[in-house]
Amino acid sequence: MNQTSFIIWGVMLLIWCAMRYPAMRRARRQKTRVDNRTVLDISLLTLCVFGLVVMPIVWRLGVLSDLADRGQSWILLILGVVTGAAFLWLFRRSHKDLGRNWSVTLEVREGHQLVTGGVYAYVRHPMYASFFLWGLAQAFLIPNWIAGLAGLAAVLALYAVRQSREEAMMRQTFGVEYDAYCCRTRRLIPKIF
Ligand code: SAH
Repeated sequence: MNQTSFIIWGVMLLIWCAMRYPAMRRARRQKTRVDNRTVLDISLLTLCVFGLVVMPIVWRLGVLSDLADRGQSWILLILGVVTGAAFLWLFRRSHKDLGRNWSVTLEVREGHQLVTGGVYAYVRHPMYASFFLWGLAQAFLIPNWIAGLAGLAAVLALYAVRQSREEAMMRQTFGVEYDAYCCRTRRLIPKIF
């Protein structure tokens, strides 16, 4: 069952790469008006690659030996598939809704528009919410406490640092329009948080 879990995790990662690649290519051609990228930002993104991609592979290669392994069950595997499907759906939706306004780090584009429709009508950070779902799916699918939880820990660190800086940048750019948007939305979970 460990192998099945790992294969499902791998398929989820490949689908994510196929979705992200075209946006990365398009973003490279776009002009930036404000660039708030910092060394901390880049370090946290690297940490996410480590937690969400490298750690499960490290576990599968047996580098951790049996350290912190846990048993796998069908229930956890099914939960992993359901959470993984929710992650991919939300990730795709938020990318579509954000369109040309997306950037991997904190940037404001030339002609940047505030998106308040689609999934952004419910929460301000649906893409970060989708990364939390990815981390959760990994925790269900990878039966090792360290490699399984590494993704969630990395996403949490990225979100904790980024969320307030990103909102400050958006407020500076869009002023009262962004304030009004904040009043009618939550950050990650509609109507709750
Ligand atoms: N925090 C959002 C977006 C992540 S991508 C989410 O989780 O879905 C990060 C970039 O998106 C930021 O650099 C910012 O320029 C842009 N951005 C964030 N929210 C936006 C919005 N509502 N409308 C337009 N651009 C937005």
